[in-house]
Amino acid sequence: MFLPKSVYYEKESENYELGKELLTRYREKGIPCIEIANHNNIEEMRKKSNSEFPNMKQNLIIGIRKTHNFVPNQDKGKGKWNNVKNEHSTEHKISDFLVPYTSSGCIAMCLYCYLVCNYNKCAYLRLFVNREQMLDKIKRVANQSEKDLVLEIGSNSDLILENTITGNLNWTIENFVENPKGFLTFPTKFDMVDPILPLNHKGKIIVRMSINPKEIVRTVEIGTSPLEKRVQAINKLCDADYPIGILIAPIILVEDWREKYTELVQYLAENLSEKVKKVAFFELIFMTYSYIHRKINEEAFPTLLNLYNPNIMTGRGKGKYTYNREVREEAEIFLRDLMRKYFPNNEIKYIV
Ligand code: SF4
Repeated sequence: MFLPKSVYYEKESENYELGKELLTRYREKGIPCIEIANHNNIEEMRKKSNSEFPNMKQNLIIGIRKTHNFVPNQDKGKGKWNNVKNEHSTEHKISDFLVPYTSSGCIAMCLYCYLVCNYNKCAYLRLFVNREQMLDKIKRVANQSEKDLVLEIGSNSDLILENTITGNLNWTIENFVENPKGFLTFPTKFDMVDPILPLNHKGKIIVRMSINPKEIVRTVEIGTSPLEKRVQAINKLCDADYPIGILIAPIILVEDWREKYTELVQYLAENLSEKVKKVAFFELIFMTYSYIHRKINEEAFPTLLNLYNPNIMTGRGKGKYTYNREVREEAEIFLRDLMRKYFPNNEIKYIV
């Protein structure tokens, strides 16, 4: 159980059952609880230097989510790089909308974390206690749509991790399954799935486990679950009949990436259950990186692997970097061949 160094909370959180429960828990444990005006703007945090990044991750912020905008999420990858297809490609994103949900940020420290968009605002774990309001909107939107929508509730944090603190994922599944329409989905890099295994999810919750080669998990995805545990979690979720996706993501083109990703796919072929191999789909996503990541990682983790490689990366505007076209295409051909060899019958939803 994660015990924060300090809790920063908006006063209004105490008007919500979950807010009261969390604050009582931490006060009883003698953890300092500091009132703040706005979870988006904590002055004390804003002033800290990049080298403080790991320490900042030890704090917890409790507040109310005020904006509830759903962002359309279809076919982003279509047509751009996908000139090399295999027979199982559909090139579709899993979800129709990215939905802001019960948390934002994370206590782990993946060196490429896409949530580090604005270091002083997004990095640490923020919990939003107005979950009823958020789930009500999800149900309303799902029920008003003609088609059965898939709503991505995990794009701002890791809900398996969050669930160990709040129980929100159990609460969400229990309160969503009777909804006449829609599916929920989220990705995770954690293996603490046991609490959701016994739930009656009715196949409406699609869990997507994100994986990477062992050494990349250990040296880059700091604070997440080891590969072996994630694979065991996939098998358990599948045994519990959850629809399962496997994200090979983000693909990081380190020096010996061919060997590393080959070992990874072989490991999957040897250790995933037969049931998973029958039903799981894949998503393959190449890493994007940014100037902000570089600055934070240089100062906060000076001895760790530098993910920025100017020889194979190119600027994409707004301080973002992606792998350049030739390198990216070569890697895509290699990975599609690998998947065809070891998982010939599994759908690759997209490579992006
Ligand atoms: S587990 Fe996910 S949310 Fe947490 S630091 Fe890693 S990439 Fe970011």
